[in-house]
Amino acid sequence: MTAPLPDSLPPIAFLDLPAQQARLGDAIRRRVDTVMAHCRFVMGPEVAELEQALAAYAGADQCVGVSSGTDAIQIVMMAEGIGPGDAVFLPAFTYTATAEVPLLLKATPVFVDVDPRTFQIDPASLERRIAQVRADGRLRPRAIVGVDLFGQPAPWPELRAIAEREGLFLMDDCAQSFGGALSGRKLGCEATATTLSFFPSKPLGGYGDGGAILTNDPERADLYRSLRTHGEGKTRYEVLRIGMNGRLDTLQAAVLLAKLEGFDDELARRDAIADAYDAGLEGHVVTPARVPHSQSAWAIYAVLTENEAARVALQDRLKARGVPSAIYYPRPLHLQPAYQGSHDGTPLPVAEDLACRILALPIHPELTDAEVARVIAAVHG
Ligand SMILES: *Cc1c(COP(=O)(O)O)cnc(C)c1O
Repeated sequence: MTAPLPDSLPPIAFLDLPAQQARLGDAIRRRVDTVMAHCRFVMGPEVAELEQALAAYAGADQCVGVSSGTDAIQIVMMAEGIGPGDAVFLPAFTYTATAEVPLLLKATPVFVDVDPRTFQIDPASLERRIAQVRADGRLRPRAIVGVDLFGQPAPWPELRAIAEREGLFLMDDCAQSFGGALSGRKLGCEATATTLSFFPSKPLGGYGDGGAILTNDPERADLYRSLRTHGEGKTRYEVLRIGMNGRLDTLQAAVLLAKLEGFDDELARRDAIADAYDAGLEGHVVTPARVPHSQSAWAIYAVLTENEAARVALQDRLKARGVPSAIYYPRPLHLQPAYQGSHDGTPLPVAEDLACRILALPIHPELTDAEVARVIAAVHG
C-alpha cells in the first residue's frame, strides 16, 4: 500500500460552518431556545443585550443593531442627509455595498485608489480626488468612507486629518474587520460612525443577515434608532422622518451573543494561521503587508501572484489538491457595469492591478495545523 496522495485527502473548506457548530452549537441552541420561549422575535431583549456587549467590546458609547452591514451604511448616510449633488469618497477596491448605498441615495461615489501593499484606501489618492472634485465644481464633497479591508484598519490618523481639513463627514465601513485593532484600540471608534456586518462569512458572523452601527455620539445614535424603525418618534405611530425597516432580528442577536463568547479565541487562531502562512509562503507569493501598529481580524488572507496567468495557474493547482481559494475582488468598483457610468474616468491603477493578481486563501478558525500545512505545500507546487 502506498501513502495516499495529497489530492486524495478530503477538500479543505473555505468557510467551515458545520465544524463551527460542532464547537459552538450547544451554546447557540440554548440562546435560540430562550428566544423561542419568549417569542419576542422583533426587538426582543437579546438585541439590547448584544448592543451593549458590542459597544463594550469596541469601547464605543453607543451601538444600534440593524438588519445588515449594507443597511447600517444606508442609515448612517441617511442620518447625514447625504443625497443628490453630494460626493462620497470611497476606495475602488472594496465590496460593492460601500458604493451601492450612496448611489441608492442619489449621491455620487468618487472612487479612490488603494495602497499596493496593504490594499487599504490611499490617503494621497484621496487628497487628489477631493481636489479634483472641488476644481470640477459640479459635486459637493460631503463624506469619506474608510473601509477596513480584509480585517486590517484603514489609515485612520491620515483619514481623520483629511476629513477635518476638508470639513467632510468620516465613517468607517468595518464590515470585514470587527475585532481588529489599531494602536492597541479595537476598531469601532476611529470615525464618527462605524458600521458592522454579521453576514455568516465575516469574522463575527451570524446565521443570516445582520449588522450594527457604533458611535460615541448619543444624538446620532438616537437618529439611527429612529431611522431603523421607519423614522419613528417617541411613540410607534409618530413618524418624524423617512426611515426604513432596518432592525436586527432577535434570533440573530441570540446567535451572535453565543458566538461573541468565543470570538477572541477565534481571532487568535486566525492570527496564528496568518503567521504560519507568512512564514511558509514568503518567496513563493507576495504575502499581505501588515498595517503598522495594527491587529488584523483576518477576514481574508490575500496573496499576490506575479500576474494574472500566474494566478490562474496557482488557483488550478490549489483546486487539484483540494485547497479552495477565492478572488476578492476580480473587478474594482469603478469598472463595474453598474457603477462605471458614475465614474469620471480617472484611472485607478493600483486597484486595477490588484484585481488581476490577488488571491485569498482559507483562514477560518476551524482550519487544523495539518490543513494549514497542506495549503502551504500546495502553493509551493
Ligand atoms: C460584507 C460587506 C458589506 C455589507 O454587509 P452585508 O451585511 O452583507 O450587507 C459592506 N461593506 C463591506 C466592505 C463588506 O465586506
